[in-house]
Amino acid sequence: MSESLVEIELPPASSDAPPSAVPATHLPTAASTPVAVSPPHRKPLPEVSAKRSLLREQMVLLRLALRVATELSPRALWKMLYLYAAKGAGAIWAYKRRLAKGELYPPFLFIAITNSCNLRCHGCWVEKEGEGHVLGLDEIDLMIESGKRRKSYYYTLLGGEPFLVKDIWKIFETHSDCYFQTITNGMIFTEANVERLKRLGNVTPLVSLDGFEQQNDLRRGDGVWQAAMKGLERLKEAKLFYGIATTATGLNLEEVMSDEYVEYFIERGAMYIWYYVYRPMSPEPHTEYCVSEEQLLWLRRRLLELRRKHPILIIDTYWTADGEAFCPAATGLGFHIGPKGSIEICPALSFATDNVQNHQDDLWDAFDQNDLLRTFQGFVQERTKGCVILENPQELHDQLRELNAQDTSGRDTAFDELNALTPRHSHHLPGREVPEDFWFYRLLKKNVFFGMGAIG
Ligand code: SF4
Repeated sequence: MSESLVEIELPPASSDAPPSAVPATHLPTAASTPVAVSPPHRKPLPEVSAKRSLLREQMVLLRLALRVATELSPRALWKMLYLYAAKGAGAIWAYKRRLAKGELYPPFLFIAITNSCNLRCHGCWVEKEGEGHVLGLDEIDLMIESGKRRKSYYYTLLGGEPFLVKDIWKIFETHSDCYFQTITNGMIFTEANVERLKRLGNVTPLVSLDGFEQQNDLRRGDGVWQAAMKGLERLKEAKLFYGIATTATGLNLEEVMSDEYVEYFIERGAMYIWYYVYRPMSPEPHTEYCVSEEQLLWLRRRLLELRRKHPILIIDTYWTADGEAFCPAATGLGFHIGPKGSIEICPALSFATDNVQNHQDDLWDAFDQNDLLRTFQGFVQERTKGCVILENPQELHDQLRELNAQDTSGRDTAFDELNALTPRHSHHLPGREVPEDFWFYRLLKKNVFFGMGAIG
């Protein structure tokens, strides 16, 4: 193991069992062959008058406000409101001004600080078997300081497992004026780590879970759910602002979009659930996890229902306030930095023509003058509002080859993987757009930040 990484000590398993009322109609057992399911047929919600609908929205916001006031520590609440919400809104305004001038610099970055991980999840695109890489503190400082000059104070750290990196705490401490969302498998929340997070206040852990115990451990490995639940218990006790990242797949869709799933995490203190949709980018693409067009449409409608019912933020990164699809990389909202410093399109597309190490004091040119990123944006805009990995894999492959992009995935197979994909539907659903019908989410999507939409 590299000296830059910590050895992980697993928390003891929790005795907390998931509710027995979990819809289990489509749950495969660990031994069964996964089979894609049709969109679930839930009963539509009864028609409600505009007045009753408004009352219901107000009630859900009131319950959310009550949760925020009583379940978060004053420090976690203040840092979230100031560093995330207020500074995030400032970053979006600055980004919109740059866009109007034709400049390209993202308000937000995904930074993969390592490719090392203690798990081996199905369909994960991160190469973990070869050499372990950890981004240097100097490179991370360069990215963050460059961002601050453009009013960007929000960063998502990911991996691998970012909490394996010993220096992660130095990043949080050095940049106490920034807010860090940290995507984790949730197995490192020892008492000492949670205490450090509590003292810092500028970190929101986003714990990846893809269903209840059986469904989650099918992808992530036995015992992962139980260990993560112990971690969530500690985050709740510490009154931290944290969320759950759930990847919707063709196999877990009904389960992860159920009321029971959302309520389960509300009880455990989560303040937001961030839904992703599965992308088959890996040497073993597991296309059985892909979500069909009908399932995507159902997912979109179901997101709106959940938002009106539950006192928790329900986040998607796929649709604007008007229900139109968008690609964060094509709009320039966020790009991805790989664990060796490569400047990549997004976490799923590990291709690059430049590296942060090629730049000294500032990264303006690394984005604004980046041929790969600019050509990618034009490529997407000519074809779709959705995801070109899913809709146009071969054309994208050819375009990346033409640009002399390097495969920076560490797998050396990313070009072949892309070329071998069967084109399929993404979240772009022309003629069937479903606009946000809850004013609160329309407001967030238009004004606050990435993940809430931030455009439209
Ligand atoms: S290319 Fe696809 S996965 Fe990447 S940012 Fe765009 S929509 Fe998301």
